[in-house]
Amino acid sequence: MTNSWSRRRFVRITGGAAVGASVTGSGLARAAVPDSPLRPTRHAKVVIVGAGLSGLMAARELERLGERSFVVLEARDRVGGRTLNMPIGDGHVVEVGGEWIGPGQDAIAELIRDLGIGAFDAYYEGDTTYDIQGTISRGLLPDVTFGEAVDFAKVAWQLDRLSKKLPLGEPWLADGAKELDQSTFGAWLEERAATSFTPSVFRLIGRAVWSGYPQRTSLLWVLHYLRSAGGLLPVILNDGGAQDQRIDGGSQVISERLAAPLEDRLLLGRPVLRIEDRAPRRMRVVTPIETFTADRVIVAMAPADTMRITFQPELPKPRLALASGWARLPRLPLIKAAMLYDTPFWRAEGLNGAMQSDRSPIQLVFDNSPEDGSMGVLSCFFSIVEAPHLADRAAREHGLRRELARYFGPRALEAIGYVEKDWSTDPWSTGCITPLTPGILTAGGEHLRKPAGRIHWAGTESAKRWCGYMDGAISAGARAASEVIASLSSQ
Ligand SMILES: Cc1cc2nc3c(=O)[nH]c(=O)nc-3n(C[C@H](O)[C@H](O)[C@H](O)COP(=O)(O)OP(=O)(O)OC[C@H]3O[C@@H](n4cnc5c(N)ncnc54)[C@H](O)[C@@H]3O)c2cc1C
Repeated sequence: MTNSWSRRRFVRITGGAAVGASVTGSGLARAAVPDSPLRPTRHAKVVIVGAGLSGLMAARELERLGERSFVVLEARDRVGGRTLNMPIGDGHVVEVGGEWIGPGQDAIAELIRDLGIGAFDAYYEGDTTYDIQGTISRGLLPDVTFGEAVDFAKVAWQLDRLSKKLPLGEPWLADGAKELDQSTFGAWLEERAATSFTPSVFRLIGRAVWSGYPQRTSLLWVLHYLRSAGGLLPVILNDGGAQDQRIDGGSQVISERLAAPLEDRLLLGRPVLRIEDRAPRRMRVVTPIETFTADRVIVAMAPADTMRITFQPELPKPRLALASGWARLPRLPLIKAAMLYDTPFWRAEGLNGAMQSDRSPIQLVFDNSPEDGSMGVLSCFFSIVEAPHLADRAAREHGLRRELARYFGPRALEAIGYVEKDWSTDPWSTGCITPLTPGILTAGGEHLRKPAGRIHWAGTESAKRWCGYMDGAISAGARAASEVIASLSSQ
């Protein structure tokens, strides 16, 4: 396949990902369907939609399995999807999207090894700061009474045990799946917790891991998520858990490295508008610039994001219900920001820069300084729904400094820079992590991976292991590619 235009030239002409895009009432961008695409129809055996980690891994796997006739179509003018590096000076970057990896994430560990990308330990030496139920404390664990600690451990153990009963990656097949999916995680906690401390800590965990409140999140979804990660501890532990290590050069380099050999088989600024699958005719994938014909399509994105694409014929009802349910979740709109300092000053005071809170405007803080410690970076997660006074960008920067000073002292006011990414206003990612509400998983969960005709699904949400994480995105991409190869060869 040839492409007479260079990608750079295309991006310059169209202004990148914004090709005719508009934001609908639901917050989803839907690109306007042009009357006539600008270029002639092209053919590729497989079209991959989405150049996040999952779509790019699908491309790598197709190539490894001997299939070179594919094209990756990406709406944005960059690769990486929900991973994004931002430069912070002196050649350093900070991630404002997906970032940490941890033990048991074998798919990403193997991939970065093969790509020659290194990883290093995140900084956790010293005390963590906690702000729970209005009390600020510092240490390995929050300041708790013996009774609170025992209550939390008991409930956490019950949750872990329940999650381990689920069939891996197929929670809808669990005994009592419907009842578990009708209950909320919050209601389950209320029945079991004997102290107010336990629900407070799970509120903290719910906001951090699923970007939502336990009272509105399906219990089955929480159990599935924990099962896919191997339990509660791997999810919530920083040191030794999912937040254990960072990627050399920032996590977006993984996508950039995967994209490099694709050359003109990766097309940026190509929002896919419509996918037609009318067998025995070839499939058609329509973008504002050109139409592709294909034998198979891999859609590599979150179910909510597929709502921007028109499928003809319509997708099966349960798949539609799954995607539309996913798009309407009561997620906390999330901003990941980084406050920059000339040194990681908190380290000299015995603090590791991590802060975890069940209530304040800032949910979480991490020390995200470069590995050599040549400057200081505190990355913060927060939602303006919980902090309306931080809605304005300038107010936010000053407000955050004041908040950080509550935890790390007055030197936190002396920031030398600030970068942020507001995921709630991103036109191509509907939020980032997912608080699935009751009923969605049992109504349509099996359609997370089940192909719809010749359309195959990738994206981290479809992963059996580490669903929601970069690791899940990678294994899901590889799985979708091998499904496609098997289906093409049985044709
Ligand atoms: C703030 C934040 C923090 C996170 N922290 C971590 C972490 O520390 N560790 C971790 O493992 N994970 C983390 N994650 C999650 C991780 O980033 C994701 O699991 C992973 O990047 C998802 O990859 P994906 O390829 O499945 O989907 P995406 O990255 O969403 O890729 C989908 C791609 O499809 C494109 N697309 C959408 N619609 C169209 C269309 N119509 N046509 C063409 N292209 C389209 C999008 O632009 C995007 O590039 C975090 C995410 C966020 C946002």
